[in-house]
Amino acid sequence: MNDTKCHQLIQIAGEENVHFDVSMASLTSFKIGGPADAVVDIHQTEDLKNVVAFADEKDISYFLIGNGTNLLVSDGGYRGIIVNTRTMSNIKVKDTMIICESGALLSRCAKAALDASLEGMAFASGIPGTIGGAVVMNAGAYGGEMKDIVESVTVLDDLGDIRILKGDECQFGYRDSLIKRNKWIVLSVNLRLRQGDYNIIKEEMKDLNTRRRDKQPLNYPSAGSTFKRPAGHFAAKLIEDAGLKGYRVGDACVSEKHSGFVVNVGKATSKDVLSVISHVQSEVKRQFDVELEPEVIILGEI
Ligand SMILES: Cc1cc2nc3c(=O)[nH]c(=O)nc-3n(C[C@H](O)[C@H](O)[C@H](O)COP(=O)(O)OP(=O)(O)OC[C@H]3O[C@@H](n4cnc5c(N)ncnc54)[C@H](O)[C@@H]3O)c2cc1C
Repeated sequence: MNDTKCHQLIQIAGEENVHFDVSMASLTSFKIGGPADAVVDIHQTEDLKNVVAFADEKDISYFLIGNGTNLLVSDGGYRGIIVNTRTMSNIKVKDTMIICESGALLSRCAKAALDASLEGMAFASGIPGTIGGAVVMNAGAYGGEMKDIVESVTVLDDLGDIRILKGDECQFGYRDSLIKRNKWIVLSVNLRLRQGDYNIIKEEMKDLNTRRRDKQPLNYPSAGSTFKRPAGHFAAKLIEDAGLKGYRVGDACVSEKHSGFVVNVGKATSKDVLSVISHVQSEVKRQFDVELEPEVIILGEI
């Protein structure tokens, strides 16, 4: 981005909300990635519309980021604008509905549900993303998926119009949605839960989070499960059976604790991680004839 565009971006989004040359390692759970040209903190829908319209008009690439927990950013970083939704994160509870701005963390939405004795979202309480990222990805765990609790989603579409989609219009699939395929932007999400018992919900959340801590390598930076679950198999089991537990390139490593995770055990680069991913894919294909598809979203020039 040249100086004129940087200056115009500041005028549109406000000086305090625009940051240049920001390390993407600082914005992602993998702690990997070179600098983004600019990061813009979003506080309200109008700002988001203005920034996206500006980027489109000036032919600047942009990318929506939630909590950066499903991303692998290239070592060269990102040429364009990272639109940061974490700063738009209000949550309101109305009867059995939770109304969340897209940047609200799932853990905070789940806490709001617990405080109102609403059941149905314990499965999501330990997923480290935002509600926006979770809806786009149809995040899921322990038998639950976002599609089970989404009542409606307000999005900004590719023509700059605001639409409200009912849950069943989002075409949720395994780690997939219409919103993801169309590259629409989630502005807010209404979750429909059920009245329940505070203590039972609290126990369920505690239990699932203990199971998560026991099974997952949460002591190392990662982006969660590296691969999607292939039909009829479990990625972690295939990787372990292929003898790849602990397989390492530089500081990127197939976790010893959970083979479905590639972890950053020091100063891993995206090149290290991609080498591990590619070796795992070719070994699993060679040994079991199963294709592993990354779940992690790869951003920037590889
Ligand atoms: C330790 C660990 C455990 C995990 N466990 C699970 C799990 O159990 N289940 C699971 O499903 N995932 C899991 N994940 C992965 C990740 O947390 C989820 O995919 C989560 O939904 C991503 O949310 P995010 O806000 O971090 O999205 P990001 O990583 O910031 O972005 C992911 C994608 O969503 C898009 N996006 C983000 N916000 C918006 C928005 N407002 N509008 C439009 N697009 C948007 C981005 O452009 C990108 O394409 C785990 C990750 C980690 C690190």
